[in-house]
Amino acid sequence: MAQPLLEISGLRTGFETHDGTVPAVDGVDLTVHAGKTLCVVGESGCGKSVTARSILRLVEEPGRIEAGTVTWHGDDEPFDVLSLDHDDERLQKLRGGDIGMIFQEPAASLLPLRSIGAQLIETIRNHTDLDKKAARERAIDLLQLVGIPKPHERVDAYPFQLSGGMCQRAMIAIALCADPSLLIADEPTTALDVTTQARILDLMRNLQERHHMAVMFITHDLGVVAELADEVAVMYLGRVVERAGVEELFADPKHPYTRALLESVPVLGRDRGRDLPTVPGTVPNPLHRPKGCSFHPRCRDAIAGRCDIDEPPEVVFDDGRTAECVLYDDREGAQA
Ligand code: SF4
Repeated sequence: MAQPLLEISGLRTGFETHDGTVPAVDGVDLTVHAGKTLCVVGESGCGKSVTARSILRLVEEPGRIEAGTVTWHGDDEPFDVLSLDHDDERLQKLRGGDIGMIFQEPAASLLPLRSIGAQLIETIRNHTDLDKKAARERAIDLLQLVGIPKPHERVDAYPFQLSGGMCQRAMIAIALCADPSLLIADEPTTALDVTTQARILDLMRNLQERHHMAVMFITHDLGVVAELADEVAVMYLGRVVERAGVEELFADPKHPYTRALLESVPVLGRDRGRDLPTVPGTVPNPLHRPKGCSFHPRCRDAIAGRCDIDEPPEVVFDDGRTAECVLYDDREGAQA
């Protein structure tokens, strides 16, 4: 088993509103292993992106990280990212250095008034000792690495002069500037057409193999998960409700929410002439979480008098996978 690189434990992040604190992330435990890909999946609003932003403490007001630890194992002594002062060198080294991050909307994340090259060079110089000339050469190399044609010319282009796919490649280049040990990719292909999406996924897979990076890939696309993941965490309403290896999860999903998500994926040929199953209902307002299991109003297997009253325990199976569900509470070999 690969070594843990990043361990999140009991993470809680909330947003202050006039009606109270919205618990966007409500006690998340996750581990990313060195050189492996962890895919975090779930419907919109389940807390995936806030979890990713909490790792690097990029949650903006009125958001606030309220509890938990984020332990970075890196090369030196492990430390809790959440306990560092804002001006701690280790935090600066993590952001864009040991941990690269790709955001969902490249057009919104790149600075519109600075060339791609200027943005790359600044990040390279923040994390290396390279002078301006050497940093520019490195920037051109990185643009070439991510498959941008004519990188000597494109390095001076502004974001509005590039297509969406090119901008996303430029974002990946910026995230790779300092050879990160972990790349966090927050729905990096959502805004792209399927052809560009396939190219970007190929690129990420190749880069990961070449650089032995760990990747935390946030997506709602189970097809992408099947292609990329080693491990999968399924989130619902701010909690991780199931964790498993990708093969185990697809072959034998344990949590009713995971099963419903998988059933809602169309399969060529199988679904001809019948309605595609959907997860019934909608994600509840996190301000008014249902009592007991928060999935119970939408769950086909809910047990009246139990699921609507008690919070389900996290059940750990013999192979290490987990599910938060009462259905496995008494399973032989599982520990609640
Ligand atoms: Fe469904 Fe109950 Fe399991 Fe929740 S605890 S997923 S309601 S069976």
